[in-house]
Amino acid sequence: MPTPPNATDAEIIAALRSGRSNLRISRELRCDKTRVARLRIELGLPNVSLQPLTLEQKWASKTRPVDGGHLEWTGERAKAASTPLMRYKEASYSPAAVAFEMRHGRPSQGYVKAECGYPHCVAPDHVNDEAGRQQERLRRRAERGLGDVPAKCVSGHDMAEHVKFESDGRAYCGLCKVLDKRAQRNPSAPRRAKRRPASMEEAFRAHAEPVGGGHVRWTGATSHTTPAVWFSGTTYSAYKVAFRLQHGRDPEGTVTSCCDMPGCVAGVHVEDQPMRRRKQEDERRAARQERERERQLDRLYAGIFGEAA
Ligand SMILES: [Zn+2]
Ligand SMILES: [Zn+2]
Ligand SMILES: [Zn+2]
Repeated sequence: MPTPPNATDAEIIAALRSGRSNLRISRELRCDKTRVARLRIELGLPNVSLQPLTLEQKWASKTRPVDGGHLEWTGERAKAASTPLMRYKEASYSPAAVAFEMRHGRPSQGYVKAECGYPHCVAPDHVNDEAGRQQERLRRRAERGLGDVPAKCVSGHDMAEHVKFESDGRAYCGLCKVLDKRAQRNPSAPRRAKRRPASMEEAFRAHAEPVGGGHVRWTGATSHTTPAVWFSGTTYSAYKVAFRLQHGRDPEGTVTSCCDMPGCVAGVHVEDQPMRRRKQEDERRAARQERERERQLDRLYAGIFGEAA
């Protein structure tokens, strides 16, 4: 008894009518090529010449849509990192880079990868190149009002040279990261001077980022909504630390930010309780003086024009 066919005649005929080649049909439907050829002759359908695929067509033939708009690469992968790899006319391509060029109509610059969270996604809308990522991060940074990048990192590296950005726009030192990684791989390698802050001031400055208008943004941790300095195992209110650094004395009572930038830790923009009280008194006195001046003016006019005026 012959082995049962893997596809029905109807399925093969439908495939033939869709314009696919005998070879492709026999592969896709796991059926005998001669059977496909025989059906083609019976139906009187012309042969499909094997058109070489374009780069994009080959790319598309190796992708599979996944939930969430992602695109999985079903083709070859580089062994070690299982990074998608595509060969076309004896050259190798990064499928992500092909996707990028399809989407943007220009060759990519630098490494192309997706940041959508799906591993090695090759969806054209999900991939970005080095230039695009940098642009996107600067945009995120501007959007969050993170201001200028500090001139030096906590280890004193020149940030103009080493600045890198998190996907949310936060800046970090690329050199520190490289040194940290190296130290992790080889614990005997010279370690980045991973300095624990030696002073409260240093702990504060490491997370105080000057932005425009004399304001200082807190980039460190917060406790509830209060910026918190972590030093020697204890957290302190960054407002209080800023106050102490500005005035050289301990504040009295609660310290709050008094400018129009929420969470600002600029020394000149924080106040303790006596300062707030004094400011209120000043405001009250100014209001009193203003009322007094109005009364004097009223009396003066009354003197000139009479009470009826
Ligand atoms: Zn994706
Ligand atoms: Zn650094
Ligand atoms: Zn401020």
